[in-house]
Amino acid sequence: MAEIEIKGVGKTFRAFTALHSIDLTINDQEFVVLLGASGCGKTTLLRIIAGLEVPTTGEVWIGGRRVDRLPPRARGISMVFQNYAVFPHLTVFENIAFGLRMQRLPKPEVVRRVTRTAELMHIEQLLKRYSGQLSGGQRQRVAVARALAMEPDVILMDEPLSNLDALLRLEMRAELKGVLAASKTTTIYVTHDQVEAMSLADRIAVMHGGDIVQADRPVEVYRNPAARFVGSFIGNPPMNFLPARALGEGRWQVAGHDFVGPRSAAPQIEFAIRPEDLHPAEHGLVAEVRVVEPLGPHTLVTATVAGVMLRAVLESTLVVAPGDHLSLAPVADRIRWFDPETQKAIT
Ligand code: ATP
Repeated sequence: MAEIEIKGVGKTFRAFTALHSIDLTINDQEFVVLLGASGCGKTTLLRIIAGLEVPTTGEVWIGGRRVDRLPPRARGISMVFQNYAVFPHLTVFENIAFGLRMQRLPKPEVVRRVTRTAELMHIEQLLKRYSGQLSGGQRQRVAVARALAMEPDVILMDEPLSNLDALLRLEMRAELKGVLAASKTTTIYVTHDQVEAMSLADRIAVMHGGDIVQADRPVEVYRNPAARFVGSFIGNPPMNFLPARALGEGRWQVAGHDFVGPRSAAPQIEFAIRPEDLHPAEHGLVAEVRVVEPLGPHTLVTATVAGVMLRAVLESTLVVAPGDHLSLAPVADRIRWFDPETQKAIT
């Protein structure tokens, strides 16, 4: 059992607050991704869990044990970082065995674990090679194998795939997902890549400015962003936003159209819709097409609606050109609303 509890964790570097007060529980065997833009505090939070950084406030518990004052090696964790720290002068075997030898495990056990994890990561044929002679992708596999060989309760990963080229990234992503699910390890994974987050996570914790703004299943984060930031950060292209003026009785005017929305006392809120939830139909929002990008499976159209730029993902069979006018109707149950003051979703 390795549930991780982060309770009121804050971190201040001199006058700068990198983390406010983070509360997050990661269930045993869960795969949680910390997702956010550069500087939002993801790495700092991971380093605090790892024991490489001391929190200014709060507590970290792993498997029912308070660990925030314990050294990293006493926490039952393994780490994989972006710059994979594979020792070039050691063979692949010795790299994977490194932590096991430090623990003075019996030799047959070292051999068993190295062989097993090397097979898992498909590098069993490389065990005798020096790591300095490996490609980036192979080195990354060694780094993951080394972490898995420790049979830790918890694996922490910080952008482990970011040094790989796009194709290899895709391949390693699918592999990691399979391997980590099979290993039953609790995993925390840091990335700024939303596709990676969506594809890997049981739950995504979206971070912004030193806070977690939403922690939920990928489909929830995508469909029901708790804050405007989440809608604008997740999705490629991101959510569209239009101002909505109060007409009273829960009705709102958006680009000259009336919509039924939340009952809010605010004079103006924001209407939000994902680009794939806009479809050409009569009586829709009048959009003037600016850019047309045929992307194969669909066509991405950038257009202005009442002077606001938005994007729509449309059928690739649609014939459309810049300067055309389209009538784009939003799918009614996909419309979301945000409070411009608090930036939070209004439900
Ligand atoms: P990235 O994806 O760029 O690594 P991140 O979300 O992981 O970003 P952190 O590395 O956690 O961000 O940093 C959060 C903030 O804290 C940043 O503004 C960073 O400059 C600051 N910070 C991190 N470490 C220190 C430090 N040792 N001293 C001062 N400021 C720091």
